[in-house]
Amino acid sequence: MRVVAIDGPSGSGKSTVARTLAAQLGLEYLDTGAMYRAVAFAALQRNIDPADADTVAKLVQDLHLVTDGPNVTVDGVDASVEIRGSEVTRAVSAVAANPDVRRELVSRQREWIRTRSGGVVEGRDIGTEVWPDADLKVYLTADLSVRAARRQQEIGASNQHDVAADLARRDAKDSTREASPLTQAADAVLIDTTGRTVEDIVADLLGRLP
Ligand code: C5P
Repeated sequence: MRVVAIDGPSGSGKSTVARTLAAQLGLEYLDTGAMYRAVAFAALQRNIDPADADTVAKLVQDLHLVTDGPNVTVDGVDASVEIRGSEVTRAVSAVAANPDVRRELVSRQREWIRTRSGGVVEGRDIGTEVWPDADLKVYLTADLSVRAARRQQEIGASNQHDVAADLARRDAKDSTREASPLTQAADAVLIDTTGRTVEDIVADLLGRLP
């Protein structure tokens, strides 16, 4: 069993670092944000208000989710593109603040890890909640402007100022919610990715693995 937990806010470099590290270690990689996004997508598709906690909690119980890296199918339909869209991005924090949704997804994430005897898992609560016994816990950060520039490139947005405002809003919601807020685990390695290359960061992490 070998588990690497990577947490941090949006645009901190989690996905790129997690994917690259997983490839180097010959492990699979789980993007837990894609799972929360998939639930938000499913709610919107069924005209359910993402803030309607009871209805979304019922929805997630029977939802069939298959993740493959950053891609996801929801009840058999490929939603890999839609889950990155602005509608889902706006709705996802409300869904992620729902304790019943978290309970169900955390249980599926633990099952994913057990089935594979480990993996590189990225999200907001992996080191604190999903797998506190991870062999290595990493908390990535970066300057807001750098994170906004990365996100802007990802989604092809024209106004970096709007992207930065959206990011800051989502970070605030994710950090202040009651259920498993985004926070650095006491024993996590803190890495600021501002101005550092992916190769440099991955080499750093490989050197820290027990
Ligand atoms: O990582 P990404 O930006 O795709 O995550 C989307 C949203 O999912 C986050 O803003 C957060 O609200 C939620 N999330 C979470 N816990 C995780 C992963 C993501 O609450 N482990």
